[in-house]
This record gives sequence, structure tokens and C-alpha cells, in this order.
Amino acid sequence: MDIPTDIVARVAGPGPCLRCETPVDAAWRICAPCSTAIVAERSRAAQEADERSNAEWSTMGLEKARRSIPAGLRLSRLEADVQPEALRSIRHRGANAPSWAMLGGPFSALGGIAIFSKWMMPWSLYVTAPELARELFEHPIGEGPPKLSRWAKRAPVLMLDELGAEQVRNGAVTEVLRSRLASDRPTIVATTRRFGDLEETYGDIARRVYERAGGVVMCRKRNQETPS
Ligand SMILES: [Zn+2]
Repeated sequence: MDIPTDIVARVAGPGPCLRCETPVDAAWRICAPCSTAIVAERSRAAQEADERSNAEWSTMGLEKARRSIPAGLRLSRLEADVQPEALRSIRHRGANAPSWAMLGGPFSALGGIAIFSKWMMPWSLYVTAPELARELFEHPIGEGPPKLSRWAKRAPVLMLDELGAEQVRNGAVTEVLRSRLASDRPTIVATTRRFGDLEETYGDIARRVYERAGGVVMCRKRNQETPS
């Protein structure tokens, strides 16, 4: 784009427009149509730069979200592995927009990631409950809230895997869930524990997540028999 760096080239007397060479009978040597065009081009250029930076932000944020998923899980053909009815039921509830989901059973991680991959947006996060607890455990006192927890609270979509598998219980996981419930940020919780165990560990928070998600969807392997 050929935009003069300075619109107001003030020259004494009439002369050609500096841009289109139409004679201008004015001290300002840019004709009126050119002046309007220049303003429009500049604002368009500014808008394009803005969009470019948004696009970069979004690519970078998506890449970061994708990288938060463990490589082994990222690469497996998730949906093919998990009972399709389970996934459909979640998507139906979320009406294809990110919402809350609670997945249970030994294949809850696979199911959760299949959903997470669909709902993922820039700066979404996959994290495990043990990671959150360990981070707080190792975090020096007086340094503000730990980084992963902060991100987990704010992520536009969070997948919290391995709920109930923490070695240390220190409130890190409860606090993330409490904060996300309060702001109603879409959250996918995956667990291999029974709901009763979760309630014992997390109290009312487990109950509230359960209610918000509309129950636990059990993920089984495709073609796996339903245990009676
Ligand atoms: Zn002109």
C-alpha cells in the first residue's frame, strides 16, 4: 500500500496534488478525494494489523492448548477408541458449545480428550489433578498463586484429568473447581474414581460439578460390554 507518510504537505500556492496530480488550488497540496482515501487506507491498514495480531494470538494460544495435552493422548485416535454414545451424549448436552462434562470409567481420559479437542479454543488447558496438587505443594509460600492453578482457573476450556488421584491433598484442585463453578467456565472432568469417593474427598464441590455436568458419563471402550 502506497500511503504518503505525511498527508499535510503544506506548499505555498496552487499546484498538483501530491498523490494524484490533479491541480489543487489550495495551500494543502492533497486534493479532497485523496485526503479521504488516505484516511480510509490508514484505518484499513491499522485494522489489518490488528487482525493479524489477533490471528497470531489465536494460533499461538491454540498451539499452547494443544501442547498441554500429553503427547501419547494427543496422537491416539480417541474417538475411535471410546464408545461413541458416551461422546454423543456430552456433545448433545453441550449443544456443541463448550459446557461442563464429567466423565467416568477407565477410559475417561480418552473420552475427555476427544471432547476437549472439539471444545478447545486458544489458551485452553489440559491438566491433571495430581499436577495441580503437586504444584501447590512445591510452590514457595509468599509468591502468589502458582502458575498452573492460575491458568487452570482462567482457561476458556479446562480439561481436568485424573480427579481424585492426587498424592497430596491440599485444596489446589478444589480451589480451581470452585473458581470455575463461580465463573461458570466450561470444564471437562475425567475420573476413574467412583462418585461416592469424590464426594467424600471434595464434599459439596464434587456434588456441584456433578450437577452442573448433569451427571457422570461412563466411558467404555468401543464394543465393551456394559457391566451389569
Ligand atoms: Zn489527489
